[in-house]
Amino acid sequence: MDFQYTPEQDAFRHEVRSWLEANLPPDLCVDDPTDERVAPDRPTFERRVAWQKQMHAAGWVGISWPVEYGGRGVTLMEQVIYDEECFRARAPVLPGYSGINMAGPTLVEWGTDEQKRRYLPRILSGDDIWCQGFSEPGAGSDLAGLATRAVDAGDHFVVNGQKVWTSGAQFADWIYLLVRTDPAAPRHRGISYLLVDMKTPGITVRPLVLMNGHQHFNEVFFVDVAVPKANLVGPVNQGWKVAMTTLMYERKGGGGRGHDAQIARLGALARQITANGGTAWDSPIVRQRYAQLVIDATVLKYTRLRNLTRQLRGELPGPEGSILKLFGSELGVRISDFTGELLGPRILVNQATPEVPDGPRWYNRVVSGRQYTIAGGTSEIQRNIIAERVLGLPKD
Ligand SMILES: Cc1cc2nc3c(=O)[nH]c(=O)nc-3n(C[C@H](O)[C@H](O)[C@H](O)COP(=O)(O)OP(=O)(O)OC[C@H]3O[C@@H](n4cnc5c(N)ncnc54)[C@H](O)[C@@H]3O)c2cc1C
Repeated sequence: MDFQYTPEQDAFRHEVRSWLEANLPPDLCVDDPTDERVAPDRPTFERRVAWQKQMHAAGWVGISWPVEYGGRGVTLMEQVIYDEECFRARAPVLPGYSGINMAGPTLVEWGTDEQKRRYLPRILSGDDIWCQGFSEPGAGSDLAGLATRAVDAGDHFVVNGQKVWTSGAQFADWIYLLVRTDPAAPRHRGISYLLVDMKTPGITVRPLVLMNGHQHFNEVFFVDVAVPKANLVGPVNQGWKVAMTTLMYERKGGGGRGHDAQIARLGALARQITANGGTAWDSPIVRQRYAQLVIDATVLKYTRLRNLTRQLRGELPGPEGSILKLFGSELGVRISDFTGELLGPRILVNQATPEVPDGPRWYNRVVSGRQYTIAGGTSEIQRNIIAERVLGLPKD
């Protein structure tokens, strides 16, 4: 693995960093961007949309998309540098992330020319915000068990059913939706992939509020919703293949980010917090727990770099991605657990205090620490993939 950046890559990093320093409004910055992927309220959402539009006008949205679809066609390394710099600047996750990272790349691969022309520019510009309608009350890990039904009605489908855990549906203009079009076919072969305007009559969005009061996701109900056939992506009953493209793009970013920064900040906090007549850092147990987190984060970093090297050599991302997703998300939980032990009852105070000036950050970390062990495929599902497809163990 080559640890050196080329002069061009250094110059690119400098360009991104300088632009963010000059343009990112400080009041939009968030402590741990990926812990708050959906804006906590509408005013914040609208300010983030304005930010996406500003970034887009300067050519900084969807930079890895092909040039013909409005991207810059940058290399994988440049995309990695861009992500690192956005994270370093504490820039919020863009409100259009589901379209930019998942729906858009899926349409580039599967969409008709008309679909690409109509949807792709508005995804980048922030004019259309998208959400993902895959999970249902009876279909999460076992996604192929989905029951939302779409019936052929000539020039359109009629959709009835329910989705759940739909992140950001309360703000979304469009949803990419998996529906069952042939109930008689084997499960994976009777599914289709539709693009649905959230303003279509018959759609109801009901919020699911998280422990920290944020409304991250929703239930979405469909009652006799008419969807034009022109909104079908890929062939009818072949939606499973289209969905796998979307999930491949989703899992690329799995496992959460920013572990190093969180751990470093916890080290500083441990030296500040009083305990047993000294500081928490005086305790060898605290220092040992801390050292283990540093080791884990270092292991994760080099595993990620090894994976990156493979991709730079032109090898396809394989099931090894599950190792990063599993280890990264479980490390996030270990960081949350350590935070809770370090701060004790102080963790419950969801505001800044003299001793813990970034209190809300740690409260949010503890209550949202588990999300990445579930979203995009649970830890148990990742272990199944690693066991069967990486280690080659038998299924039973
Ligand atoms: C923060 C967050 C955001 C999300 N956003 C979206 C979104 O925008 N759109 C969307 O469609 N979905 C979204 N989801 C839903 C997510 O995809 C599902 O929660 C996930 O796939 C798990 O499905 P489930 O909740 O139905 O749990 P289940 O599948 O019912 O699993 C329950 C438990 O059983 C275990 N289990 C299930 N099957 C197996 C097996 N074969 N072997 C071993 N253990 C098993 C699981 O690991 C889990 O512990 C989001 C979830 C989270 C947490």
